[in-house]
Amino acid sequence: MERLDGRVAVVTGGSRGIGRGIALELARRGAKVVVNYRKAADAAQEVVQAIEAQGGEARAFQADVADYDQAQALMRFAKDTFGRLDILVNNAGITRDKLFMTMKPEDWESVIRVNLFGTFNASRAAIRYMIRQRYGRIIVISSVAGIIGNAGQVNYSASKAGQIGFAKALAREVASRNVTVNVVAPGYIETDIWEGVPEDVREAILNLIPMKRKGTPEDVAPLVAFLASDAASYITGQVIAVDGGMT
Ligand code: NDP
Repeated sequence: MERLDGRVAVVTGGSRGIGRGIALELARRGAKVVVNYRKAADAAQEVVQAIEAQGGEARAFQADVADYDQAQALMRFAKDTFGRLDILVNNAGITRDKLFMTMKPEDWESVIRVNLFGTFNASRAAIRYMIRQRYGRIIVISSVAGIIGNAGQVNYSASKAGQIGFAKALAREVASRNVTVNVVAPGYIETDIWEGVPEDVREAILNLIPMKRKGTPEDVAPLVAFLASDAASYITGQVIAVDGGMT
């Protein structure tokens, strides 16, 4: 298991689901973690307590990553609290699923704003600390929807494909400063994000998975921890799917 002792990580949307799993895994390997959330203060506090219970260090911080000033405040908090900023996991994300014919401009805008602007805002706010340190790991949680597209998710798929282009370009810009930028593209992972998705749609997606099962946050977190570690120092600009073979 790759260790992350002495590293400081920010996980956006770390209060629930995949982000929660990533925060716990990074902390388990020795990183100090800032658990970002937008609304679910109790859930974020529960993650902090779970990290402390396993002997780690963590703090929760409320910030809407769709807002650049709040993203800046989040990164400043990490730096001021733990003295550095080594790892940023751009995980915060939302869906507003609708068929394209009924999709409203606000459905498009809200998803692009959180998923794509959020990734820009958090990364832009974090990068100056990483460049100054000559060390950084940016990991973007995209989706298989950004690779193969998904009916009913034009907005979400566009945001997730946008994250991939973002990461590939940024990886080239900052590689010489020892900052890597990689993308993890999960498939069907059981979390709150699936709330309200009809059973027949879930069944259809399950049928596309060669492994014939949904994933869990624990299927995704170890890859993120590896990409955040020194062992992955020569890997950048890559997209790795964690999808049971779907793509
Ligand atoms: P959840 O809905 O379970 O959790 C979303 C998290 O993001 C919450 O912690 C939430 O905070 C936070 N969040 C939402 N909007 C903002 C915002 N504006 N600013 C800060 N935090 C915010 O989602 P998942 O865990 O399922 O998804 C995590 C990521 O993984 C997303 O980017 C998603 O697109 C991606 N993904 C998920 C897949 C899946 O099948 N689950 C598949 C492929 C990709 P709060 O609790 O305060 O609301």
